[in-house]
Amino acid sequence: MLIRKLFRFENAHIVRNCSSDRCKRSLHGHSYQVEVLLEASALDNGQMVYDFGLMKSDIRTLIDSFDHAVAYWDRDLPDYIAACQQFSARWIALPVSPSAEQFSRVFFTLIDRALTLTDMANGEQDVRLHSVIVHETATGYAQCFRADIDNPRIGPVALEHIEFSPQVQAEWPDPTLWQRLLAGGRRSNPSVDLQVS
Ligand SMILES: [Zn+2]
Repeated sequence: MLIRKLFRFENAHIVRNCSSDRCKRSLHGHSYQVEVLLEASALDNGQMVYDFGLMKSDIRTLIDSFDHAVAYWDRDLPDYIAACQQFSARWIALPVSPSAEQFSRVFFTLIDRALTLTDMANGEQDVRLHSVIVHETATGYAQCFRADIDNPRIGPVALEHIEFSPQVQAEWPDPTLWQRLLAGGRRSNPSVDLQVS
């Protein structure tokens, strides 16, 4: 069974090497919508795949990190990167270009890491990330499946090469979020008192 939760964020970028001139040469923004799709073969004690409220922890924090920020490819021109860091307190350096396709792969990788490091506490059954859809505009989106992460023709998204600006990190509810995820540190969902058995 599949569930889907929608998140939103505003972000600025330049997508180098693309075909459209406006996109490749001018800093511009989009109102992104991100759909996170989770699947499981059975339901938890609340008869859910995964409580939507539980996605308001690390998953929401990771997506919200990109809100009102500029995302740039770490191989972009040094002067551009310096300007992003100088004039925007919120920036994210990515090891891939910030196209909708790569954003969906970045979010898949981030959310998959967060989910697999979460100890379930309400009888959830083999909850796993199905896919991530990133709507860049009202008419265009990219969807990343696990096969798109494992695809050697595209290559993995190296989490250790993603860098969040100090301001982004300062706004996290858990300031150790990134170190925890990179180090493989586990966190547990809150325990649940069952009312009906
Ligand atoms: Zn764009």
